[in-house]
Amino acid sequence: MLNLTSPAAVRALLLERGIKPKKRLGQNFLVNPGVLEKTVTAAGLSPGDTVVEIGPGVGALTARLAETAGKVIAVEVDRRLVALLQDTLSGYPNVFLEEADALQTDFDGLVAEAGGAFPYKVVANLPYYVTTPLLIRLLQSGFRIKLMVLTVQREVALRLVARPGTKEYGALSVFVQYKTKPDLVGVVSRGSFYPVPAVDSAIVRLAVRSDPAVIVPDDQLLFRIVRASFAKRRKTLLNALAGSSLGLDRETWRLILVRAGIDPQRRGETLTLEEFAAVARLLVLQQRE
Ligand code: SAM
Repeated sequence: MLNLTSPAAVRALLLERGIKPKKRLGQNFLVNPGVLEKTVTAAGLSPGDTVVEIGPGVGALTARLAETAGKVIAVEVDRRLVALLQDTLSGYPNVFLEEADALQTDFDGLVAEAGGAFPYKVVANLPYYVTTPLLIRLLQSGFRIKLMVLTVQREVALRLVARPGTKEYGALSVFVQYKTKPDLVGVVSRGSFYPVPAVDSAIVRLAVRSDPAVIVPDDQLLFRIVRASFAKRRKTLLNALAGSSLGLDRETWRLILVRAGIDPQRRGETLTLEEFAAVARLLVLQQRE
């Protein structure tokens, strides 16, 4: 059996197949068994679970997932790696390999096709270039996902779990915290990968909420308010909203903020999710008047 967590073995395997890791596809393979264990433990897998793995690479994590979950559906965009995975994972009949771009994949459809269980879990060591659009797509699309365990750039992980008033807190934090309960599982040093990337990573665990964290009549409007509030970080909330494309005059915004119990002179990045929701509710009432 190949040792997929040894940098020398992974290098030799890739060399033998003439595969040069592509930077463009974020191909840095995990070669630290401790990090694999942490990831699998964070996913809390049992034989009843179906896991979708995005970007299986050479299959080190996929094999560990297959040992604990009932079914693993691995989505890899690089044809060269799909061919290699057919060999490295040949001893795991519960792994379903799919050559596809995760940004285009209908994950629910894939799980149904493979006879997997709903809701399912997503585990991935994500390529950096795809992290934010993919995360937004996974949370926005209504896919039946209950939990995600993701290895992402450390800086992105800190943004996902950031609290109001910190420099990491931004529109992505609010969006992710609206949809999930995020936890930082641990930091992963760049030396855990082959080839070694330029930055450190971290594992985050996102428990998808069955109902959003706050109730608003229109969540697209909530996110427009959030984006407008963070767009001009050095402005007061009142100036940021009055100068936004949301289209209300300054006095109306002032009244909305005061009615929501928010000092208009505060900065957008100090607002909690509940406060953003209060603004969204009052804005909808205002539009109805
Ligand atoms: N899971 C492996 C590991 O932990 O060693 C590999 C992780 S590597 C950081 C990212 C993987 O995602 C690569 O195998 C890459 O080819 C794949 N990938 C990149 N873009 C993708 C996309 N749009 N859809 C699916 N897989 C993608």
